[in-house]
Amino acid sequence: MKNVLTKQRSVARIVPSMQALEGGGVLIHRAFPIPAIGEIDPFLLLDHMGPLEMAPGEQTGFPEHPHRGFETVTYLLEGEMEHKDSFGHRGLLSPGDVQWMTAGSGLVHSEMPSAGFIQKGGRLEGFQLWVNLPQRDKMMEPRYQELASASIPVGQNEDGSVRVRVIAGEAFGKEARIETRIPIFYLHYTLQPGASVEVAAPVELNAFAYIIKGESQFAKERQLAVFAKDGDSIALENPSSSQPLDALVIGGRPLGEPVARYGPFVMNTKAELAQAFEDYRLGRMGRIR
Ligand code: MN
Repeated sequence: MKNVLTKQRSVARIVPSMQALEGGGVLIHRAFPIPAIGEIDPFLLLDHMGPLEMAPGEQTGFPEHPHRGFETVTYLLEGEMEHKDSFGHRGLLSPGDVQWMTAGSGLVHSEMPSAGFIQKGGRLEGFQLWVNLPQRDKMMEPRYQELASASIPVGQNEDGSVRVRVIAGEAFGKEARIETRIPIFYLHYTLQPGASVEVAAPVELNAFAYIIKGESQFAKERQLAVFAKDGDSIALENPSSSQPLDALVIGGRPLGEPVARYGPFVMNTKAELAQAFEDYRLGRMGRIR
């Protein structure tokens, strides 16, 4: 513990998320990029899906689409999603599960509520974070890191008033199982009323917090707080006397590389983007069977 030596970061910006329809018409709240705020290098996007009440038989999801040049991280809180890709990979996401997908050189996939969930209907909630890949990794072979909820390390403070699910990075001495290409932390904190925590956030990393539920001392539900690079820790407090606080606290070392982005492809140059479209059009990223 190096608490004595840390300097707390100040909050540079608070930005409310923006509602949008994505995929086949799924209501999401986009934390970024939106007109008010762009990318937070190395992060390209954060969407909060739902919570949605889906009627039995409703099939809204994210049908077949490609990706190249970055990673998509899906973290499901409620419901059940099924994933299929053009290389024959299949996966089921249940509440609390994480799928860290490195699209690399490219694939085509679909992300839909599972057949069982469609039949019964219910509540669907989750997150998708897009993590950019450094130039040297953009064309790496696609790979998946899939973690069931029970195998995600959980840390907590002495009295149990602060709990953290460690998706990437480290907290309370618990280390994530996910391997990242660049230094990244992805932490889901739950703070009981009145609790507080200091989160290590090395000064060279860009960092932000997104309030899922409740409110912190600096932001409310569905707001994004971007921290200044003026310290090496983040103070998170739950000022409420009755409501728990749920927040994602995320950071990563910026790549500082040019970003050429269009839809599902994120490369470094326009020529590489054109190549991505061409490869997709010619079926080089495969097809879902
Ligand atoms: Mn996708």
